[in-house]
Formats: sequence, C-alpha cells, structure tokens
Amino acid sequence: MWQPLYQSEGPSQVFLLTLTWLLAAHGNETRERWKKLYLAYDNMCHLDNLKATKEDLPLPGDLKYIWKDINKIIDSLHMKNHVDVKCKEKYDPEKLKESNPDYNTMVCEQTFAWLSRYKRILGSMPKIHFHFFLHRMIKHRNRYISLCYKTGRRPLHHSKVIALE
Ligand SMILES: [Zn+2]
Repeated sequence: MWQPLYQSEGPSQVFLLTLTWLLAAHGNETRERWKKLYLAYDNMCHLDNLKATKEDLPLPGDLKYIWKDINKIIDSLHMKNHVDVKCKEKYDPEKLKESNPDYNTMVCEQTFAWLSRYKRILGSMPKIHFHFFLHRMIKHRNRYISLCYKTGRRPLHHSKVIALE
C-alpha cells in the first residue's frame, strides 16, 4: 500500500495512513497475532500520543483494539534523538531484537537512500508521470529485494546507510 504525503508529515496524517494499512494487511487476524506484530516509526511517541489512540478505535469487534495490541517501537537509529526516558521505556527496539533478531528496522532508511538516487529524475516529471514511475520502481525493487532474500544474496545499495551511520 502507498499513499503520498504532501508537505511535511503530521502525526494524525501518519496515523490515518498507518491504520488504513493495518486494517487492510492485518485486519482479518486475531488479537493474539496482533500482539506479535511490530510497527517501527521514528516519531512513534507523538503518533502514540494522539488523542485518537488513547481510546478504543471506533471500529467493529476486535478491530477497536488493533492499535493497542500491536507492538510499537522506534528504530535504533532514531532512538538517539529521543531524550525522554519514557520513549526508551515504551518504544525500545530491543523488544523486537529479542523475539526476531534477524529483522531489519533500517529498511526505510535503506529505501530512502535508494530512492534519493532518482530524486532529480522524478523531480522533473509531471505529477501523474511521477506517481506512475515511482510505483513501477517500487514494485520492481520489492521484487528484486525479495528475490535477494530468498536466494541469500545481499541486495545492491543496501548497506550504504548503515555505513554512513
Ligand atoms: Zn520520543
């Protein structure tokens, strides 16, 4: 799923987008399964602090608990910027590492690094062309990355971000 965010991303905009995705991707699963899901976001403390997340969601059945049930973390790269001790307590990425040591929470940074290489090409396109081209690129890249993981190869341009950190 993808949805453009115009101007800067606000927590409520991100929350709606994330919830829409959660419902589409995991809405048919059980609460037990939701409790095993991890959602990483660099601004999770603000997202999880929205008024909308404080109460049960206005959704039918167990769906009202989906946000409460999932594990919410801040990836280790962005955790450094969160000085409040509560952030570390509530959204520590180590929780994920304990249960799923192989999971890659840097994947978004790696995607940004990959995408930034096309910035000038994309920037010169009209909006519809831009969206179409970006969509095709993402589909293509996801296929490529999946194939790499299946065949035990390291994707090209995938380690650059970690090297910069
Ligand atoms: Zn924080």
